[in-house]
Amino acid sequence: MHHDESRDLYDRALSVIPGGVNSTVRAIDPYPFFVQRGDGAHVVDADGNRYLDFVNAYGPLLYGHDPPEQVQSAIQSYSAEGPMYGAPTEIEVELAEFLARHVPSVEMTRFVNSGTEATVSAVRLARGYTGRDKIVVMRGGYHGAQETTLVEGEAGHVHPSSAGIPAEFAQHTIPVSFNDPEEITHVFERHGDDIAAVLTEPVLGNTATILPVDGYLETLRELCDDHGALLVFDEVMTGFRVGGLQCAQGKFGVTPDVTTFAKIVGGGFPVGAIGGKAEIMEQFTPSGEVFQAGTFNGHPVAMAAGLEYLTYAAEHDVYEHVNRLGERLRSGLTDILAEKEPTYTVVGTDSMFKVVFSRRGPDDLTDQCDSGCRQRADCPRFDHCPKNGADVQAAETNRYERVFWHEMKDEGVFLTPNQFESCFISYAHTEADIDRTLEAYDAVL
Ligand SMILES: *Cc1c(COP(=O)(O)O)cnc(C)c1O
Repeated sequence: MHHDESRDLYDRALSVIPGGVNSTVRAIDPYPFFVQRGDGAHVVDADGNRYLDFVNAYGPLLYGHDPPEQVQSAIQSYSAEGPMYGAPTEIEVELAEFLARHVPSVEMTRFVNSGTEATVSAVRLARGYTGRDKIVVMRGGYHGAQETTLVEGEAGHVHPSSAGIPAEFAQHTIPVSFNDPEEITHVFERHGDDIAAVLTEPVLGNTATILPVDGYLETLRELCDDHGALLVFDEVMTGFRVGGLQCAQGKFGVTPDVTTFAKIVGGGFPVGAIGGKAEIMEQFTPSGEVFQAGTFNGHPVAMAAGLEYLTYAAEHDVYEHVNRLGERLRSGLTDILAEKEPTYTVVGTDSMFKVVFSRRGPDDLTDQCDSGCRQRADCPRFDHCPKNGADVQAAETNRYERVFWHEMKDEGVFLTPNQFESCFISYAHTEADIDRTLEAYDAVL
């Protein structure tokens, strides 16, 4: 496998694009492969190498690279007739109606252009609605490139995690550990009257894929209710991926006040959305006082792609297929690891998966979760499996990134390039693809 073209392209890119890439995570060491095209469940790089694609653009591509015919024709007709107007269109109403029909927390939706924009607007909405400033987030959670959530540090010493953000901004954000009900209870005891919202992914998808322990999401719901704060689920990754059309909130049976979406809901085009109860959503301008606007908001091509994506999923066995392959892959990985690297943890749910290179595990694996960590209190791994961002950080992240990822790539399997992002199965994957992938893990681990 050679990468001469990719190396040359990267060399050119370094002169005109900072760091050679347009999104930080793409800067794979020593240089990324440049993609020439997608083909079903595969991507082909600039040197003609073909990979089974489990990155799927970091989540949006539920169908891989050849979406159903009705998606493709909607994209073509909406781009030919427009592509956009700066005036409302029927298609944005239809997509908002679809979300209201399927997602428990959603009565109204405002469409924006990215997950980042969605979480920025959701935070502003929560602050405007409650008249409070503080936002509680999870360490290791990710909500895009926005000021409020790019923070790190312990209580009392929270600071921005990026240059270019005034230190004072971080004073309004309180990071806590996911899956630790005591810590957040304590935070609410101290700051309850000042907290506008708890903003969290229902499943930490940007630190491997960490499921909530029993009762954790319910605890968040109760704390928010008791203190008049909003519960905001960032379902940018899990939306229409985990729990099918009802999203993760439906799967876990905990309904937030506000939900952010992006990724799948745009059918492969740039989109974001904020959804929630009408009473809260109507605080956005022009009906309310919380400013929100965007030239590309509700872009007809993205709306059409998203609506056809989800409509197809409503009418076909899409989630059944991807979730079944997810089970097959996670249980195959569990068997391989029991043999080869028993301290490593298989995580994931539905069509998300990852192997966390955890450094410690139990001596006896009898009755462990058999197709990905479920955070089951009676699993022998329970005291060792990752429960929050710090636990994943403490894994063998260098080994994953510098050795394992490259060897999988050489086997023709494209995984997310570090220990933190989840991997995704698409409707284009087959059982044979999963079995081939398991063989590659078996050969490389
Ligand atoms: C990807 C992601 C974002 C950011 O979305 P962008 O479209 O990249 O701005 C926010 N939150 C979560 C949970 C994500 O996975």
